[in-house]
Amino acid sequence: MTVLRLRGVRKAYGTHTALDGVDLDVQAGEVVAVIGPSGSGKSTLVRCVHQLETIDDGAMYLDGELLGRRRVGGHLRALPEKAVAAQRRRMGMVFQQFNLFPHRTVLQNITDPPRLVHGRSRADAVERANELLTKMGLEDKASAYPRQLSGGQQQRVAIARAMATRPRILLFDEPTSALDPELVDEVLKVVRDLAAAGMTMVLVTHEMAFARDVADRVVFMEAGRIVETGPPAELFEAP
Ligand code: ADP
Ligand code: ADP
Repeated sequence: MTVLRLRGVRKAYGTHTALDGVDLDVQAGEVVAVIGPSGSGKSTLVRCVHQLETIDDGAMYLDGELLGRRRVGGHLRALPEKAVAAQRRRMGMVFQQFNLFPHRTVLQNITDPPRLVHGRSRADAVERANELLTKMGLEDKASAYPRQLSGGQQQRVAIARAMATRPRILLFDEPTSALDPELVDEVLKVVRDLAAAGMTMVLVTHEMAFARDVADRVVFMEAGRIVETGPPAELFEAP
C-alpha cells in the first residue's frame, strides 16, 4: 500500500530550481533515507510534503488523497488553510532544531498541538503523551522545560510530539545535525525502534551508516532530482 506518492514535483525559489521533477512512492511501513549533497533539495522535499512550502507543479498524494490542492472542474485549486491543516496532522515532522516551545513543559509541548488542532480531550492527549514519553525513556521529564533537557532529550520530545496525532508518516529533516556527537545515538535508537514498530518514515540524513542500517531504501538526490534509488546494500556497494 502506497502511503506517500510524488509525481513530477517541482519547486523553485525565484529563478533557482530546488526540486526539478521528483517522483517518489513510499509504501506503508517503509523507511526511506534521503541523502545527497548540500543544496540538492532534500530539505525542500520533506518541507513540500509537510506543506510548509507550496509546490509549483506536479502532485503529491497521502493515502491516495491529493495534498494541498483539489480538482475543481478540471482545474487544480489550492485547498483552504483548514483542510491543509487537517492533512498536515496526518503527518509528523521532526526538524533539525527541535522547534519546541520554550515556555511550555515537555508534557505541554506534546499535548498542545493535538489539542489545539485536533480537538481531543485533555485526558486523551495527556494519556497519549505519557505513553509516548515512556517509549522515549523520558517518563520522568514530563514537567521539565526544554532548556533543562539535553539536545538528545529535546529531539526525543519533538519525536513524541510528531507522533501525538498518530500520523500515517513521519518526516525527518536532519534530526541529528544539531546534536553533539555523543547524543546522536539516543535519537537514532528511537528512529530504529519506530522502524521496527512498522512506522512509515522519510528521513533526510547525512548519517550514512545509519541510513545503510535502518533504511529499506535509499534515495540519492542531486540538483533537485532523484538520481538513484535502491536498497542500501546496493546503493552503498563499491562500484
Ligand atoms: P538540502 O536539504 O539538500 O541541503 P535544500 O532543500 O535546503 O537542500 O535547498 C535546495 C536549494 O534551494 C538550495 O540551493 C537552497 O539554497 C535553495 N533554497 C532552499 N530554501 C530556500 C529559500 N527559502 N529561499 C531561497 N532558496 C532556497
Ligand atoms: P498505537 O496505535 O499502537 O498507539 P502509535 O501511533 O503509538 O500506535 O505507534 C505506532 C507503532 O509505533 C506502535 O506499534 C507503537 O508501539 C510504536 N511506537 C511508538 N513510539 C515508539 C517508540 N518511541 N519506540 C518504539 N516504538 C514506538
